[in-house]
Parts: sequence; C-alpha cells; structure tokens
Amino acid sequence: MKRLRLVLGDQLNHNHSWYRDDDAETWYFIAEMRQETDYASHHIQKVVAFFEAMAEFAAWLKVRGKNVIHYTLDHPENSQNLGTNIAGLVAKHQFACFQYQLPDEYRLDQQLAQLADDLSIPTEVFDSEHFLTERNALSKFFEGKKTLLMESFYRHMRKQHDILLTSAGEPEGGQWNFDQSNRKKWTGSPEIPHARGFRKNVTATVARLEHCGVKTIGAIDPQQFSWPTSREDALAVLRHFCSALLPHFGDYQDAMHDREVYLFHSRLSFALNSKLLHPQEVIDKAIAHWRAHQSEIDISQIEGFVRQILGWREYMRGIYWKAMPDYRRCNRLHNHRPLPEFYWSGNTQMNCLHHAIRNSLDNAYAHHIQRLMITGNFALLAQVHPDQVEAWYLGIYIDAIEWVEMPNTRGMSQFADGGLVATKPYVSSGSYIHKMSNYCESCRYNVKERTSDEACPFNSLYWHFIEEKRERLAHNPRMSMMLHQLDKMSDADRKALRTRARQIIQNPDKF
Ligand code: FAD
Ligand code: SF4
Repeated sequence: MKRLRLVLGDQLNHNHSWYRDDDAETWYFIAEMRQETDYASHHIQKVVAFFEAMAEFAAWLKVRGKNVIHYTLDHPENSQNLGTNIAGLVAKHQFACFQYQLPDEYRLDQQLAQLADDLSIPTEVFDSEHFLTERNALSKFFEGKKTLLMESFYRHMRKQHDILLTSAGEPEGGQWNFDQSNRKKWTGSPEIPHARGFRKNVTATVARLEHCGVKTIGAIDPQQFSWPTSREDALAVLRHFCSALLPHFGDYQDAMHDREVYLFHSRLSFALNSKLLHPQEVIDKAIAHWRAHQSEIDISQIEGFVRQILGWREYMRGIYWKAMPDYRRCNRLHNHRPLPEFYWSGNTQMNCLHHAIRNSLDNAYAHHIQRLMITGNFALLAQVHPDQVEAWYLGIYIDAIEWVEMPNTRGMSQFADGGLVATKPYVSSGSYIHKMSNYCESCRYNVKERTSDEACPFNSLYWHFIEEKRERLAHNPRMSMMLHQLDKMSDADRKALRTRARQIIQNPDKF
C-alpha cells in the first residue's frame, strides 16, 4: 500500500521503528514551511539549526534507500502550509494512507487531527518513541492530588526506570536530591574546557532565509555554526559533556559569569528537543561515564544532570499536556505591562540583564538561571504580561518549542499558573544575583542600595512586587517570611521603595 509518512522538524529520531521497515511503497515527507518560520519571531540560529538538521535527516534517509520528499522553503510545490502540502501530495501521488507521529505541540496536534478528518484516505498515528513517559502520565500520577510536586514525580521516575538506585531500591549516595550542593559561585576556576570540535558552514541556508524574506532575530556567524545538527555531532557534544563538563556540572549549575556563556552546561537541549538524541541514551551515557570515573566525579554532579532530564524535562511535558489549552491564557498575578524594549537589544545599564540578553541574542542560548533569575525575574518584578514574556522566550532560544517553553516560562518563571509548577514565585532582589555571579561588580548600580538613584533596580522592584501582590501571595506559607519582613519596615521605607519601583516599572528602558 502506497503510504505517506510525515516527519516534523522536531521528530528527527534516527532510531524510530519506522525506519526499520524496508518498504518501497513508503514515502517520507520533510518540509521547511512558512507556517513554522512565522508563528513566532524566531532567532536565526534556531531556524537554521532546524532546517540544517532536517536536511541532514532527509539525506540520512535517502542513503538508506528510503523515498524522501524534502521541501525547502523555495521549493516550487511548497504551499508553506502543512495541511495543503499533505493534501497536495496525496492527490499527486495517489497515496492510500497517511501516517504521522504524535506531535509535541498542541497547535500541531490540532492541525493534524483536523487534517486527518479532512483527508479522503485513512490516517494512522504513531508514538514519536522519544519520551520516557506518555503524554498523560503526569496527569495519571497526580490524579486526585492538589499539588504536583516535581520532586515526587522525579522519585517515581527514578524508581520506574531504575536510575541511580541501590539494589535495595534506595537512592545511590543516600539521598534523592543533591540540589543543595548545586549552588556554587564560579570565580575563574576550575577551568571551563571549551573545545567542541565541529564548526559548520550554513551560508546557503542563511541565504535561503534572506531570499525568502523570513524575519528573524539575533545574530549568526554562518561559517562557524556550532549547534549540532546531525546525530554524529550531537553524540560528539554528549561525549564532550561527559568527559569535560560533567565533573563540575552540578556544582556550578546556578552560577553566572560575564565572560562565560555556557559554563559547565551541556548545550544538549536542541539535540534532545529535535530528537537527534534520546533522553534515555543521554542519561545512560552520562551515568556510565560517572561510574567509570566515580572516584573523581561526585554523585551530586550526575544526580543534578539526571534530575534535569528524567525529572524536569518529562515533568514539564506532562504539565503542558495536562494544562493545555487553558494554560496559554493564564495570568493569575494579573500582570499587564509591556516587555521592555531592551529585551530585543540588550541595551540596558543593568549589567546582569545586559549579559543575559546579549548571550541570548548572540548565541540563541542562556542557561537556566539566566532565564529564570535574570530575564524571567525582571519581567515578573516589572509585572510584564505573560503573553509578551512568552513570545520572547518562544522565539529567542535554540531549544524553544512550546511544550517545554510554556510551562517553564508561564509556570515556573512567571507564576502565571498560580503555582501549578512552582511552589512560590521565583523572584529575588539583587543579592541573589550578586551571590551567584560577578555581574554586580561592574554594574552601574549598587547592589547594596535600595532607593537611591544608584540603587540596584531589582531591590525596590522586589519589595514592591511583594507589596502589590500581597493578597495573591498571602496564603502561600513559603511567602510568609517575606511578607513579615515587609510589614516590619517603616512606612517611610516602604514608600521610598514604592516610589523607586514605580519609576522603573513605568520606564524600564531608562535604567
Ligand atoms: P543543561 O543545564 O545542560 O541541562 C541538561 C538538559 O536538561 C537540558 O538540555 C534540558 O533538556 C534539560 N532541562 C534542564 N532544565 C530543564 C527544564 N526546566 N525544563 C525542561 N528541561 C530541562 N528548555 C528547553 O528545552 N526549551 C525551552 O524553550 C526552555 N525555555 C525555558 C524558559 C525559561 C523561562 C526557563 C527558566 C527555562 C527554560 N528551559 C527551556 C529549561 C532550561 O533553561 C534549558 O533546557 C537549558 O537551559 C538548556 O541548556 P543546556 O542544554 O545547556 O541544559
Ligand atoms: Fe543586576 Fe543589580 Fe547586580 Fe546591577 S547591581 S548587575 S542590576 S543585580
């Protein structure tokens, strides 16, 4: 039976069971489309990474003798829309069956379900064979529970997948979570090994985007593209992580530095989210490396890494499918301010924001704490509408796909879901940033001051946020200490903080 199989740009799973079939009647369809380039303002490196990876995947299939239809943006038969492209191919080639893998985004899920209804031929749906849980596994796990604690889900996953457990089923190292030891400041040592091996020339893809008039944000060096777009390169990044970065990953997970973009972070999120790498193989390889070097690498490093992939990544996916479609509209803290202009340029005198945003614009990357405690923290304190915050996060990062971006941004970072993901809002004054980075040392503002013209803007914004949102936070036991501290301040102090915070909120681009 002649059948058409769709491979979406984030379904580049070489080990999918589809590719074990040797069937001359099967055609694989991979397409660059304007519907994908235009639904957000994407970073140019993100669009290039997906298009390069799709082209390499198409080439890999062809080498294995598969029939492949690969539409580039400028292909004459490309209608730029998934539905009409598929319908056109079905009519032209007389396919008798259409097959697709479950997409990870709600909008594509809806679009493909509609397409299946509209097509005159049968449609079959397959699992993407990528995740360690099914879409609704988290909903089932937390059924009837009021709080959806990541830590409970993570322990369950450790047990279910037998990861880092003793033969008695206890956590290796005597505890489930070494988060407390993942909080060192990096001050220049240990040295960060930078070598990553490959550089790719992506000039032709960049030229195609320009020629087609695709609007993107951020910078790119087309001759030195360093994101992995093939399975071989993705495996090389994983090997580099295990041998060079894992030994200090956990320790410096939350650290920030004005000269270091990646520190000991793995840069694996694009390879994982495009499915070039499977989470199980990433976890297995990292654990195997740790076991072989157990005398040199503390368990806190490997546990910290496993927690991100086995815990947070699967958890966020489960939250997305549990809470969509209402999740995309939630704004429980009622924030309505516009996103400051400087998020698109990095032009701000606040040194921490300047560096986190420049990293993002230059590299399509910022690590977790920069996303959470610098850009996310400021947006929440400045009471920016979560829609605007999300539009920025969805476009700017190499790994930004809605199923993982949305619960991280709207939930964890902006508390717009009222506490489904985070047990309290992730907000801080300048002192946290000072503790975890060297940004404050060369900042125009003084991190120790609160209300003067020289005072760090995060300080007044922080107390103003607690005061303004007090009613919505009062029932949260994790906020009671902060509310108590606010109450102990004199009226004059509170007034001075309020005045300065309002100046910043009304005109953040002046700061
Ligand atoms: P590492 O620090 O080396 O971590 C290893 C892997 O763990 C990552 O590659 C990633 O797959 C996984 N991971 C770590 N933290 C998380 C998390 N909170 N949620 C899901 N997976 C996690 N991650 C995305 O993949 N796409 C996004 O669009 C995205 N948006 C985010 C938005 C905000 C506001 C925040 C606070 C975090 C966001 N994250 C997102 C999570 C995290 O910041 C990135 O996964 C990480 O920075 C990617 O860099 P890395 O590969 O070097 O990660
Ligand atoms: Fe950021 Fe404030 Fe530190 Fe400046 S002083 S880098 S604004 S935290």
